[in-house]
Amino acid sequence: MDTFQNWTQNIEAPVAEFATPKSLAELCQVVREAEAAGLPVHAVGSAWAYSAPAHCEGVMVRTEALSGFPAAVQAAITQPGPADRLLVAVGGGITIRNLCLALDGIPRPDGRPGLPAGLSRGRRWTMPTLGGSGGQSLAGAVGTGTHGGDAARPAIGDYLHALLLVGSGGQLTLVQRTAVVEVNLLRDNLIAEGELPPGATVRELRGDAALDAAVLSLGRFGIVHTAVLAVHDETEVALVEHRWPTTWRGLAPGLGARIEQAVAGDEFLEVLINPVTQADGDRKCLVSQRKSLPRTELPVAGRAFGLGDQASTPVLDERSRSPLPPEIGQALCARELPPLLADVAKLLGLPTDRRLGDVLSDLLNLTTTLGLPQLVEVATSAVTDALKPSRRPSDNQPWLVHGTRWEVGDFFDYDSDCFRMDFAELFFPADADLTARVDGVLGVFETLRAHGIALGGYVSLRFLRGSTSLLAPAPFERSCAIEVAMLRGLRGNRMALTLLHELAIRHGGRLHWGQLNELDSAAVTQLFGGALTGWRRELATAEGESTTFSTAFTRRRGLEIDRPVDWTQWTDGGIRAGGPPALAGNQVFVADERRILHSTNTIGGGWRPVRPEPIGAQARVVVLAGARRLEILAADATGRVLRSRQEADGGFPRWEHLGGEGIDGDPVGAAHTDGRLELFARGDFQRQRKLMQAWAHWPGGPWAGLMQVGSGRLGGPPSVCGRSFHGSDQLVVLATGLTGYVRWSAQTGPGGASGWTAWQDLGAQPGSHPLAFRDPHGVVRALVLDPAGRAFEAIELTGELAVRWQPWRALPTGPRLDPTVGLTGAGSWLLGLDRDGRLFGSHLDGGSWTAWQDLGGALTGPVAASAGTDGVLVAGIRRGDGQLVSRRLNA
Ligand SMILES: Cc1cc2nc3c(=O)[nH]c(=O)nc-3n(C[C@H](O)[C@H](O)[C@H](O)COP(=O)(O)OP(=O)(O)OC[C@H]3O[C@@H](n4cnc5c(N)ncnc54)[C@H](O)[C@@H]3O)c2cc1C
Repeated sequence: MDTFQNWTQNIEAPVAEFATPKSLAELCQVVREAEAAGLPVHAVGSAWAYSAPAHCEGVMVRTEALSGFPAAVQAAITQPGPADRLLVAVGGGITIRNLCLALDGIPRPDGRPGLPAGLSRGRRWTMPTLGGSGGQSLAGAVGTGTHGGDAARPAIGDYLHALLLVGSGGQLTLVQRTAVVEVNLLRDNLIAEGELPPGATVRELRGDAALDAAVLSLGRFGIVHTAVLAVHDETEVALVEHRWPTTWRGLAPGLGARIEQAVAGDEFLEVLINPVTQADGDRKCLVSQRKSLPRTELPVAGRAFGLGDQASTPVLDERSRSPLPPEIGQALCARELPPLLADVAKLLGLPTDRRLGDVLSDLLNLTTTLGLPQLVEVATSAVTDALKPSRRPSDNQPWLVHGTRWEVGDFFDYDSDCFRMDFAELFFPADADLTARVDGVLGVFETLRAHGIALGGYVSLRFLRGSTSLLAPAPFERSCAIEVAMLRGLRGNRMALTLLHELAIRHGGRLHWGQLNELDSAAVTQLFGGALTGWRRELATAEGESTTFSTAFTRRRGLEIDRPVDWTQWTDGGIRAGGPPALAGNQVFVADERRILHSTNTIGGGWRPVRPEPIGAQARVVVLAGARRLEILAADATGRVLRSRQEADGGFPRWEHLGGEGIDGDPVGAAHTDGRLELFARGDFQRQRKLMQAWAHWPGGPWAGLMQVGSGRLGGPPSVCGRSFHGSDQLVVLATGLTGYVRWSAQTGPGGASGWTAWQDLGAQPGSHPLAFRDPHGVVRALVLDPAGRAFEAIELTGELAVRWQPWRALPTGPRLDPTVGLTGAGSWLLGLDRDGRLFGSHLDGGSWTAWQDLGGALTGPVAASAGTDGVLVAGIRRGDGQLVSRRLNA
């Protein structure tokens, strides 16, 4: 057993074994041996990703030795592309930094060979776009959607033309958009080089969908051995960077135009925002703009930026003169504290002989405790401002510097260690709503501040073209990446992260896969919709049902194939129904055409009348299990509630009328964990359609009559389920209000007469028959169909005293379901009918809903469903002949 720790040191987890294959054949062997031992496998590059998608508990494959320029693949590239581009076959484990150096003809620090001379042709080749650091591996970077800030250029992965993957069984797969690599030639080359493992073949998956799925797949498609990447010839040009200070209020109104300009001019654009508000409520910003200029224009580069004839100076010279390293992590590693901070630390009695970042985070936490967040915000602000000067240290002229793309773009210090920050990155369309989204992100700092919690860090906006990868965090034609950097170890970081995730989900934004990413599969399904379905389809083609590359990370986020679930066929129940059925485990209850309630344990026969007296026409029956007996409740013809509690011999005594008020339509019931039962219904016309409640005084005991709860009128029937809080359980009721929006009310005590919260709207989600659903993990979910028949859910934040809901989000798109019938829940299943009466089901898999499965049938009205240890049973009434029919999913 070994231990994995990611570079940012926020995740440490056990691993059965690390392997470091040095060749394709060794890599295939590692995968096969792991499979033979029953272990999962996953690739790890530089382990720079914050939520550690590389981790698996089985064999982690280190890829640093797969970092050359594989000749067998290069020689099989038959479509080289335009003259100023080079398609280069490069090992997936090479770091971006080493790749940049090799392309530029500079010796690699890892001592490995550079770009073969025959390929470089004496030109200076560059990556088309770069992030701010190059320590990531190429495959790790593209596998998470890593990007730069070139407004007209997409993420790095979009420059890949082909991938050579080692999948489950050691299978080699060439994935490419078009036939740039000749697959037979590749096979021959591999054989000639002795690289094709015994028994292996090379399979080709060609097409947009295949490559768009495989490029960004977080290692789920297997291990990238080689990537075929398009690089640019920048021999004659230099990248020139100009920076200038402004404020957010000064910049925001013209941001759209500035983005347009950056796109049109193929420029890099970044806006760094200091989130600390100034006295006037505004915030400091620093804008960085980069353009490619012919080297001959460098003496007058200022002209391109409105700076007259100012000459550009070499970026490396200016950086060497700057007081602080340009990357915040390195700056925070400094042992020498800025004077202001040193004074504050001394004042508070904190040791000052540690790294700047450690002192700052201690200070922030301490001042939060002391109620003085502003103190350290000022200090953090000073560090942030000092990081990127807007004037050149050499001559105090406006910042105008140049270098190669990697010299300007990658300012990470590879020689010194650095302070690990927490990073989250949100992506939104760069459209008219963008400034509101940025304000939302800045609002997170405000929210924390309002709680007296200081948050140290900065916000950076970068712009890029949308990616075609199916799981792209930046899919929007014009995308903005909003990066939030937070000082590690602060008390507010967790809350900030939650708020940032909520913000992205609420506004259809996305999150970087390689930064802090705590999405669950429900959120991933909501955010990626049909693209996720497409991605899963491609995964199924590439990897079939194999789980070799499945990890806790991919499972939690639903990055797995859809597995069909097998239901039995519809079976005739042997009774014509006079109302909707009810289920209690395997026992089925249904009124016949004469409105006499019958029941059976074995659908298809054995029906017996429960009672000889009829119940109300079309009355929905409630069967509840409490104190080891069943209780049946149903409306009679006048809208009053009948009740019968099972006797020791299994029979049911005469109906009794539950005292109290009359109801309108269908009652619903719930059992407390101690067996006490409660019943709810919408009151009749005289009761002004308010919520009515009745309850058993103790388990198996007599009932209080129906009484009105609260004052709000209901626009439809209620739904109820229990929620747990510290060992006790309370009921939550959902119903539509008169405005057509879903409302909720929850018990404030243990139930019965203990009281209710006032009715509250549960966000702006219209729908007529909401379902309160407690899933097998105890999570309460509100589900509703909107008027168009699309399903939405809001999840309750568990473990809190007060009921709080996450924002509504859509379930997987699928059939339009009938909102007048609503949804039914059982176990982990959710069921609904479309307008033709066809049954569809979705179930929770790893916390999120699977795609809707067509369960067939042609049914009327609501279905009944129950779940037990032996599976799920669904019963409904067939259209046309009124026959009760059922289907079962065996566990
Ligand atoms: C200091 C720093 C700066 C950063 N700057 C930026 C930036 O400017 N822009 C940006 O977009 N992001 C940035 N990031 C995020 C970073 O690019 C991603 O986290 C990236 O995934 C890290 O690459 P890695 O090689 O370390 O991947 P790892 O963390 O090792 O792995 C990430 C994922 O890729 C998979 N993977 C790795 N290698 C392979 C392979 N050979 N085959 C198949 N799958 C593989 C892993 O299984 C895992 O799922 C930064 C991160 C840090 C720590």
